[in-house]
Formats: sequence, C-alpha cells, structure tokens
Amino acid sequence: MAWIWWRVLFALSLALGGGFIGHALGAAQGYTVRGALAGALIGVVLLLIRDVLMGRRVLRWLSVGAHEASPAMAGFWGELGSRIERALRSRERQAEAERERLAQFLTAIEASPNGVMLLDASEQIEWCNQLAAEHLGLDRQRDLRQRVTNLVRAPAFVAMLQARAFEQPVQIPHPAGRGLLSVIVRPYGEGQRLLLTQDITERERADAMRRDFVANVSHEIRTPLTVVAGFVETLTNLPLSEVERKRVLALMAQQAHRMQSLVGDLLTLARLEGSPRPAADSWLPLARLGAAVELDARGLSAGRHRLAFDWGQGIELAGNEAELLSAVTNLVSNAVRYTPDGGTVEVSWGQRHDGAGEISVRDTGPGIAAEHLPRLTERFYRVDGSRSRDTGGTGLGLAIVKHVAQRHGGELLIESTVGEGSRFTLMLPPARVRLPVLSAAAQGTGW
Ligand code: ADP
Repeated sequence: MAWIWWRVLFALSLALGGGFIGHALGAAQGYTVRGALAGALIGVVLLLIRDVLMGRRVLRWLSVGAHEASPAMAGFWGELGSRIERALRSRERQAEAERERLAQFLTAIEASPNGVMLLDASEQIEWCNQLAAEHLGLDRQRDLRQRVTNLVRAPAFVAMLQARAFEQPVQIPHPAGRGLLSVIVRPYGEGQRLLLTQDITERERADAMRRDFVANVSHEIRTPLTVVAGFVETLTNLPLSEVERKRVLALMAQQAHRMQSLVGDLLTLARLEGSPRPAADSWLPLARLGAAVELDARGLSAGRHRLAFDWGQGIELAGNEAELLSAVTNLVSNAVRYTPDGGTVEVSWGQRHDGAGEISVRDTGPGIAAEHLPRLTERFYRVDGSRSRDTGGTGLGLAIVKHVAQRHGGELLIESTVGEGSRFTLMLPPARVRLPVLSAAAQGTGW
C-alpha cells in the first residue's frame, strides 16, 4: 500500500508547491490567495495531464495484448501496470494448465477401448475420438458440427435418440458391414449427450458359439439318454427272454459308453483350454508314443485294415505325452473308423528342411469334399453324422487335435480327395523335435 501514500504525498506536494509558487507570484500583484489557488490548480492539472499520459501508455500496452512487460513507470501507474501484468500472467498460467489438463483428458479418452462422442443439445457432433469415428464410419474433422442422425442412419439408433430412450444400449451393424456395434447414450449437462460405442462382433460370435456348444452337448447327451431310458422301461415292464435281456443290456452299455466318450472328450477339451502350454524341455521318445497308438489302432481295426507304422529312429518330441498321444490316437482312430474294411492306414514320421516334424496319417477311406475341410476342426462338425456316431465318434476328435497342435506351437494340416482318401498331418515346430545323436560308428569315424 506504500504507493497510495506516495501518490497522496505527490498530489499534495504538487498542489502545495503550485499554491506556494502561485502565492509568491501573486503577492507581487496583490493577489496572494487567488495566486495560491491558481498555483494549486495548475499543480493538480499537471498531475492530471501526467495521469492521462501514463494511463494512455498502460491502455496502449493492454490493447496490443499485454504480451510484453508492463511499461516501466514509477508510482501509481507503475504499480497498476505491474499488478495488471501479474494478474494476466497468473490467468495465462491457469489457462495453460487447464489447456494441458484438457489435452491430457482428451488423450486419455483417445486411448479408451470404447468410441466416445460428445453431442450438443441439437445432436450435433462436438467432439469424438478416433475409435468412435472408425466405428461409425465418420471423418473426425469433416463431420464435426454435423447432426449425428444425418450420418448414422441405423433405424435403432435414430429411434433411440428420437424417443430419448437411453436406458438400454442399442446394437447396430458396423457401417463398413463387418460385425456389430453396441451404442450407449447418456445425457449430461444442458441437453448434451455422451455417446459410447463398442465393437461387440467378437463377443457376439463367442456368445453364439457358446450357445451352439451348449445346444450341441445337450443334444449329444440327450440322444443316448433317451435310448437308455427306453431300455430301462422295457426291462422294467416287459418279461424278456435271457437272450433279449442280454441284447438290451449290450445296447444300453453301448449308449453308456457313448456318453462316457463324450464326457471324456469334453473334459479333455476343457483341460486343454484351461492349462498352461506344455513345457518345451520335457522330452519323450516318439517310439513309446507310437507303440501305444499302434496297440490302440490294431485293437480298433481288429484285422479289417492293412496298417503300417513308421515312427523313425530314436526321435524325441518335447511336449505333453498324454496330449500328443490323444491327438495322434484321434487321427489314427478316425482313419480306421472311416476307412472301409480292406483299406489301408499308414502312419509315418517325416521331417521338413527347416527341422519341423510331421506325423502323417494317410488312409484310403472315402475322402472329404473340399467344402468341409475348413470346418472339420469345429466342435461337433461332422461330414457323415451317422457313420461318426455308429463308430463311437463324438465330433470332438479333430477339435482336440487342433488344440493340442496349437498348444505345442504346431498345426494340423488336412488334405483329402473324395474317393481316394485323406491325409491328416500333425506338424510340430523344430524346437520340439530332437533327432538321435549319431554314434561314432554310425557316422563312419570309427573302425
Ligand atoms: P468324429 O468323432 O465324428 O470322428 P472328428 O472331430 O474326429 O469327429 O471328425 C470330424 C468329422 O471329420 C468326422 O465326423 C468325419 O465326418 C470327418 N473325418 C475325420 N477323419 C476322417 C477320415 N480319416 N476320413 C473321412 N472323414 C473323416
């Protein structure tokens, strides 16, 4: 506040000084009082002129934006200038901080996994992030301030905005025609709306798959259950001969076995989905795996086919033995089950140039038409449903094989020609294949 006193002192001293000089000059003419008053007035007028000049400098500084430092002036005007400057700088700093916060906020919204759009009270686009623009097929710059319903014309969306029914999200087709979007609108502020979009294509697909899966499992279990229930009723109500009773019991056992296989395969799939990938350093001899597969295949074929096996020499694989056994057994048992009597099933080990290993199962069965090949590994997908069920198939075998292959970093390859046969190949990456270390004699360096 020191400047106030200086200013008062300055004004007083000018008035007094002027009065004093006026008094001295007026005394010579005999107008001492008038001279003093005129002197004081001139002092005050001089102060006013100075104020006008200084005030003009401050105004000029303000009118050009006050970007530079305030004009260097002493006293009241200097203080006024520096106070205005301080207030302006503080406002600028605040505005800058707010701008930064807003930029950060917008960057965060930009990173949102959802599309975000702000609409004003007349449903014009005020702002949207890149994802919302992509979801709704808009151009962020060009479509700004456009009415959203002029650009997004999906009837469900337009109806929701018109009816202001914002409680439930609406699902609309992706404008690019690939999939489904969920759109939620929430009112805020004075008539403004926040619009959130989410791509739910994958979720919907997964939901549909889950629904199909449950329906398929229920259907697969219901059929043998109905048969068993029918037989139980027959056994309870009808007096059967010993031969008939045995036949019915055998059929019941067959259906029970079918349910057991189905539940077994379902559990295998669940285990495959829920457990970590098999270790890449746990080695097992392919010959051991091969022996188990061979035993199983010979039992299943019961001499009806020509079976040939070649498991290579001393090969070792890295992975989960139970999973690999289940995969190869599935392929070989399919070959045996689908190949008519007298046909051939050949299982062979091979290695690619890059070191990847292949277990191929080739049969001379009916073959599979090309249009079925991409879907064969889907759960419960069957080309020939009745043959599959008659031979104890669950429709899950190839789904299990594909899973096992993927978990080991490999893949399942299928080639088939109708009328000639099929070839299913389980490919394992080089890191999971170990060749025997050749002995010195075998390498020809010994005697
Ligand atoms: P399933 O238990 O029915 O055999 P899979 O998943 O093992 O189920 O096989 C799916 C379908 O692929 C089978 O239903 C069958 O139609 C077809 N398939 C699989 N392997 C062969 C094969 N070696 N020859 C002909 N068709 C096959």
